[in-house]
Amino acid sequence: MSIIVQKDDQVLRLTAKPVPLESITFPEIQKLLREMSQALAAEADGVALAAPQVGKSWRIFIVSGKIIDEEKPPADLVFINPKIKKASRVKAEMEEGCLSVRWIYGHVKRATRVTVEAYDESGKKFTHHGSGLLAQIFQHEMDHLDGTLFIDKADNLQEIKPEDIQ
Ligand code: ZN
Repeated sequence: MSIIVQKDDQVLRLTAKPVPLESITFPEIQKLLREMSQALAAEADGVALAAPQVGKSWRIFIVSGKIIDEEKPPADLVFINPKIKKASRVKAEMEEGCLSVRWIYGHVKRATRVTVEAYDESGKKFTHHGSGLLAQIFQHEMDHLDGTLFIDKADNLQEIKPEDIQ
């Protein structure tokens, strides 16, 4: 059974709290990161996951290592207390879905390039640039931390059941 909560769960509508920097290495947060990675790995089509999606209202999201390298995926990338430092003015309509909004898809306008600053699982600050899919992921996950779901801003919403995708 997946621990990923679905769209009517109120935790998805909260503004998530920043993680106190000194507690990043505490067992509670480290355990949460492991649970998030396990939950994400269990979803064949999953590319990223935000803490509110497993019922924890913290400003954390992870990106699957397979986005970085599909052949030899590194460990999932961890973004704690992320901030968008730069976003391109150029936007594009992108097809989007969400592990908390099964099985709905739609089009969302997203900046095509985004720079995020965050802390990793050891509490070290870093900056990550993303374009295309990664830029889209950054914006989708940041929305989760502010209580927004992609269906709030999407056009052309449609339901595509997994059995329809062959
Ligand atoms: Zn989502």
